[in-house]
Amino acid sequence: MLTIDLGAIAGNWRTLCRRVAPAECAAVVKADAYGLGAAHVAPALAAAGCTTFFVALLEEGVVLRPCLPGAEIIALLGALPGREADHAHHRIVPVLNSLGDIARWQAFARSVGRRQPAWIHLDTGMNRLGLDAAEARRLAEQPERLAGLELRGWISHLACADQPHHPLSAAQLGRFHRTLAPLPAGRRSLAGSSGLWRSRAFHLELVRPGAALYGINPTPEAANLMRPVIMLKSRILQVRTVDSGATIGYGAAATVARRSRIATIAVGYADGALRSSANRGHVFIDRRPAPVVGRVSMDLMTIDVTDLPEAAVAPGGWAELIGPDRSVDAAAADAGTIGYEILTGLSRRHHRVWLAPATGNLATGDQWTS
Ligand SMILES: *Cc1c(COP(=O)(O)O)cnc(C)c1O
Repeated sequence: MLTIDLGAIAGNWRTLCRRVAPAECAAVVKADAYGLGAAHVAPALAAAGCTTFFVALLEEGVVLRPCLPGAEIIALLGALPGREADHAHHRIVPVLNSLGDIARWQAFARSVGRRQPAWIHLDTGMNRLGLDAAEARRLAEQPERLAGLELRGWISHLACADQPHHPLSAAQLGRFHRTLAPLPAGRRSLAGSSGLWRSRAFHLELVRPGAALYGINPTPEAANLMRPVIMLKSRILQVRTVDSGATIGYGAAATVARRSRIATIAVGYADGALRSSANRGHVFIDRRPAPVVGRVSMDLMTIDVTDLPEAAVAPGGWAELIGPDRSVDAAAADAGTIGYEILTGLSRRHHRVWLAPATGNLATGDQWTS
């Protein structure tokens, strides 16, 4: 069962707002709000006062438009060829990532005879998306390339914001300012979850956090200031006693060194429990740690409960995979990955419960697990 605390998400957004004021705090809700259900998360954030939302794709914005009627929705990956009219119709503002993107959006504006809104992405060192230095120079020298566009602002993206003193962050900030100097004025946005904790210089006019809203630690070098957002629990199906020397599960990948009690729980890699956490890390039963033993299979995991009181572990009971005892970041570390991949990998098979912000009322999803 996956419980998603919308009040904690709204609370995290407010914490970030206070941190960056007077800069504006947007919310990144791409990839279905990092797997937590954008149709629930975005309205909760809007109710808390958020008015600017980032998605990756047009389609993600189209789905959210009815529940965010007045918000600015921005698509980071830009307007793909042939989809310009859909952007305009649903008011999904594209981030233009190249001179070619700008030319196409301008041609569309001309064809409909109406100025079209856009953000423009300047690459300052990530080398992934956005206008490179030469393209930015051409844009500054040929301002007519922006005719017909309603320029909303400029964005860039930090490569190493989660490393507190990484020199690339300051270098990117400097490049952003220098690249913008000869370009038309507009709002500026550089920082996501981690960048906004670095220094005020990174806030500019708008910050765009995602991960921190969802409880991932944006300052990995220090304690997490974000509220935890999800609780992931799974049922204990069976408990068995095995002799010393017995092997557990596929590939006989674990051998017990003593007579042991092994509990089998109803969660596997089809639910987003990564196979790379085989024989690593713990789940919690009754707030006590129980190590994962053996491989993770599609629907099942096995855990060693020898050191837990017998009464605490029974079929039908719950094991906590993520929650107060085990953070998303800890689960990610056990699987050799980052919290972002854990959240976006949570499968549709979990029965989902969204805790509503103010009332604590339950909103129940329509997907049920075994
Ligand atoms: C995903 C994304 C963000 C949000 O990053 P977090 O680290 O989750 O806060 C911000 N900006 C861009 C361009 C992104 O792709």
